Amino acid sequence: MAEPKKQRSRSRSRKAKNNLGWKAPSIARCIECNTVKRPHQVCMNCGEYRKNKIISTK
Ligand SMILES: [Zn+2]
Repeated sequence: MAEPKKQRSRSRSRKAKNNLGWKAPSIARCIECNTVKRPHQVCMNCGEYRKNKIISTK
C-alpha cells in the first residue's frame, strides 16, 4: 500500500479542508439589458432568457 511520506501539519490539512466547500459566486450578465443575473436563469429585469421572452414585464 502507498503511504504518505510525511505527516501533514494541522494548518496544512485545515487549509485544504477549508478549501473544499468554497465556490466563487456565479454571476452572469443579461444579453438584452446587460444587468447582473444568475446564470441559466431568466433575467428578472427584462424577463428574457436566451433571446426568448419568458416573463412579461409591465
Ligand atoms: Zn435582461
